Parts: sequence; structure tokens; C-alpha cells
Amino acid sequence: MAALKDLADVRNIGIMAHIDAGKTTTTERILFYTGRSYKIGEVHDGTAVMDWMEQEQDRGITITSAATTCFWKNNKINIIDTPGHVDFTVEVERSLRVLDGAIAVFCAVGGVEPQSETVWRQADRYKIPRIAFVNKMDRIGANYDRCVKMIRDRLGANPVPVQLPAGKEAEFKGVIDLIEEKMLLFDEQSLGQEVTKVDIPSEYIEEFTAARMMLLEKLADFDEEIMEKYLDDTSVSAPEIYSALRKATLALKVVPVLCGSAFKNKGVQPLLDSVIEYLPSPLDVKDVEGEGSDGEVVSRKTDPAEKMAALVFKLQSDSFVENLAFVRIYSGTLKIGSKVYNPVKNKQEKISKIMKLHANKREEVQEIAAGDIGALVGLKFTTTGDTLCEKGDNIILESMDFPEPVIGIA
Ligand code: GDP
Repeated sequence: MAALKDLADVRNIGIMAHIDAGKTTTTERILFYTGRSYKIGEVHDGTAVMDWMEQEQDRGITITSAATTCFWKNNKINIIDTPGHVDFTVEVERSLRVLDGAIAVFCAVGGVEPQSETVWRQADRYKIPRIAFVNKMDRIGANYDRCVKMIRDRLGANPVPVQLPAGKEAEFKGVIDLIEEKMLLFDEQSLGQEVTKVDIPSEYIEEFTAARMMLLEKLADFDEEIMEKYLDDTSVSAPEIYSALRKATLALKVVPVLCGSAFKNKGVQPLLDSVIEYLPSPLDVKDVEGEGSDGEVVSRKTDPAEKMAALVFKLQSDSFVENLAFVRIYSGTLKIGSKVYNPVKNKQEKISKIMKLHANKREEVQEIAAGDIGALVGLKFTTTGDTLCEKGDNIILESMDFPEPVIGIA
């Protein structure tokens, strides 16, 4: 069974963006870079390296499933598809509910657009920690500072740049990492290349120094140790900055901002690093609450050893024309062959198959544990929004009276 400590390496994230900002391109690149380093079954049964990227490269990889699992530096990232509708549909709300953190993609030219505001406010309501990725730095008219300012002024957020762009438009070379104090260069011709770290060229030193100072000043507002060091003029180490920034991000006090060009393959690997660095694991999130048999509020711990409770957040058929029920397990472990109870429908369901969906591949697994996301095959009575739990241990995770006005729900 999965151990509690393994959950620290899981990230359940969404990618949110205004249409055209580059959500699809960024997602595809994430799947590409993570696909490169991932060996399917490596942990469980030692099967072959996933070599599909070569075949898929020409066709492009697109995310088609409600939740796609990928791996980055020994961490498991579940990307939950977050519809970018303007409407407050129950579907958007539900997808926001099952994720723990998000990447907000902005266009460096357009900045914050009205639609981004809507999704941002929804994410605020669900208290979802976010990092921002200012994409399209290579485009004419790209303006990083303006975009950061708009995140502050229009969204009321507290953006903290952790990178600066080195050049922009056709001159966009790479990014300057304010924490590592290096310039990161990417080989846009060769996907999957290592990031090259070089010393910051003299032409950027002044800008870098000012931006790093600002980063430390902001962090000092939330972190006493950094405040003391800052006031004493003592140098602050990279691990200290990461740790303070993580805390402030999880507490929704700041939004770390990065930049790049997904299309030109620049900046995506550090973005993945930041997902691990700043966004919460299921263990960072408070225990899930629901309604017990007598209408009382009950909670369940994020622990594979507890009793099982899961929320079905999306029904979808895949290309094998099987009906998949995407679930987030909040508590306990769901095992293949087990019987579970659906308290909403008052029915028992048998779990005949459990799948993890990767960019181009389905993987059958024996179980999924608290904090993780997967898809179940063969449920007969369950619909979206239902809870699965153990009989006699009833919990309903999604209240019947959904809080928002519901538009367009079937
Ligand atoms: P989505 O609507 O947010 O999913 O946006 P897409 O990823 O489909 O991108 C919209 C358009 O912008 C497409 O034509 C992409 O090729 C282009 N695009 C995406 N990222 C970049 C980028 O970093 N630089 C440039 N120049 N174009 C980009």
C-alpha cells in the first residue's frame, strides 16, 4: 500500500488561462518534458521506457483526458483538465475542487484579460495556491513588467517574480533565475535538452540585483528569519528563499511568477520545477469535509490507511469506448475488486478496473491511494459529483445544494 510519505511527492494541479494565452502549448510541452524522463512501470514492474514521444512528435500531443498523470524528477503530477469557461458551471467548480494548486498562464502581450479574471476569482474562492507563467515572451509587444503589474492591479494578487526574462521578442534568450542567481538557457531546436546555467551577463546585473532585492523584501514581510537577515545585510541562501516562498504561496500570500515561451521551448522545465517547489502536495491540504448520515459535518484524513472516501468528478469515455469515472481519493485506498458504497445513490458498486491515464497511454493499476487521482471502469449507478465510500461509514463530499448559480448543467 502507498505510504503516507509518498504523498509528499504528489501534485494535483490545473492549468488555467485565458483562451489563446498558450494553455494547450504549455500543457503539451509539459507532457513532452515529463514523458522524456518517465519510464512507465519502472517502479512497479520494470517494463520498457516510454518511447512514444518520437512517434507522437509530429502529430502533437494533446491532453484529452480529464486527468493526466505525468512524472517529473520522481514526483507524480496529476494534471486535471480545468475548463476555461466564463460561466460558473458546476463542472469548472468541481474540477477546481479536486486540484490542490494551479499554473495560471498569461500572454506576455495581452496580460490579464477579462476571462482570466473570472477563473482567477473562482480559484480564489477555492483557496487554490497558484504560480503564474508569463508565456509568449518571444512575441512582439511582450511586456513582462506590465503583465506582473496587471496580476497585481486587476487580480488583486501579490505577484513575486522569481525570474526575469533575458531579452524579449526575437531577442528573448532565456530567463534569469533570481533564486539560483543564474541565467538559464534553453535549446529551442532540441526538445528535451538539459537547461544550461550560466553566470548572469553583466548587462542584466543591475536589473537582477534590483529584482532580487524586491523578492527578499517581499518575503521579509512574511518570514521573520528572512526579515532579520535582510535587515542585517546577511546573505540569504537559495534553500531559505525556496522554503519561505513555498510557505507564503501555500498561505495564498504570494504568487511566484515565471516567464518563458512554451512555443519556443523556453522556460517549461523551470516551470515544472516550480510546480514541485511551490505548489502543495495533498498532505499540505486540510482534511476533506463532507456530510455524514445525519447531516452532520464529518472529515476524513488524507491517509492511505484510513477508511476510503472518494469524489467522482468527471465521467468520460475514452478511445477504447469504456466509461471512465475520474475520481479523487481523499482518504484511504481504493483497491481493484473491492466493493464500495455510493451514499448518494444508495447503491453498492464493484471496482473492476482502475486506470491511470498518461499522455498517450492507459495504465491499469491495482489501487489508488489518498491524495491521488485515477479513473474507474465499470461503475453502474454513479454519476458526476457522487461520493464513493465504505458502507456504514457514510460521507457525502459534495453537498447537494451546490453553492453557485448553475448554468448549463445537464
Ligand atoms: P490556448 O487557447 O490557451 O490553449 O492557446 P494555445 O496553446 O492553443 O496557443 C494559441 C496560439 O498561440 C497558438 O497559435 C500557439 O502556437 C501560439 N503560442 C503558444 N505559446 C506561444 C509562445 O510562447 N510564443 C508564441 N509566439 N506563440 C505561442
